[in-house]
Amino acid sequence: MWLWCRWGDTKATSMCWVTPPGGQPAGTHGSRVTFVSRTHRLDLDDQTLREWDAVVLDSGPDGIVLDRSAFYPGGGGQPPDHGVLLWGGVQTRIVDARKTGDDVYLVPLDTDPLPPPGTAVRGAVEDDRRTSLMRTHSGLHVLCGVVFRDFGVLVTGGNMEPLTARMDFNLDAVPPGFKESVEDACNAELRLDRRIDVRSLPRDEAFQLPDIIRTATNLVPEDVKEVRIVDIVGLDQQADGGTHVASTGQVGRISVVKVENKGKGFRRVRIAISD
Ligand SMILES: [Zn+2]
Repeated sequence: MWLWCRWGDTKATSMCWVTPPGGQPAGTHGSRVTFVSRTHRLDLDDQTLREWDAVVLDSGPDGIVLDRSAFYPGGGGQPPDHGVLLWGGVQTRIVDARKTGDDVYLVPLDTDPLPPPGTAVRGAVEDDRRTSLMRTHSGLHVLCGVVFRDFGVLVTGGNMEPLTARMDFNLDAVPPGFKESVEDACNAELRLDRRIDVRSLPRDEAFQLPDIIRTATNLVPEDVKEVRIVDIVGLDQQADGGTHVASTGQVGRISVVKVENKGKGFRRVRIAISD
């Protein structure tokens, strides 16, 4: 959830600031890299895209690099996509993906054939997994927005798998009825079917947004000029590099499964997403 990027086009130089999944949203744990990107990130252009044409730029022990890819490479607590590349009458199943600089490396099943550089491929992202992760990620933002609005509490970490997730809060004591109250408020927000907008804003403009100020102002380095904002209109705005559904109604239903005490000022909320 805490990923700030100036999203570069193919061949553009980009700067990226990433807090590791589950890590503290305090700059000390982040890492900063400069890179030249080769992969155009179709997943950021269109979060609904599942199939596309591409050309292999590189393939080897590190994985396969495409000129255009809709595979979400993981980050901000959202795990990578799975899927398949079709080429020359064969298929290469993709079981992992990661971002190195701005290149997206697709990791094939090790028994599947490797398409050589120059090969034209048809890429496809596994829809069930990705759509579940989008619902889960948006659900976590709803949770984050509700807990801040109703209890004034900030998030310190989070992680997700398809349809299940956890979020850590800087909360000293759990108020009576917290679990039920949070679950009810989250589901009320889903029923409102709030629009979820994604846009990039110049840094100065982004940091005039109250929600962004409370979560991110001091975490994004001075030289990051553009910030990607995920806006659950009327509830929550975050600097975020993940994929999301178009409105909160598409999340489904949120169950607060458990609230765990992990130490002083550290409560972990586990949620499950269902239809
Ligand atoms: Zn997020």
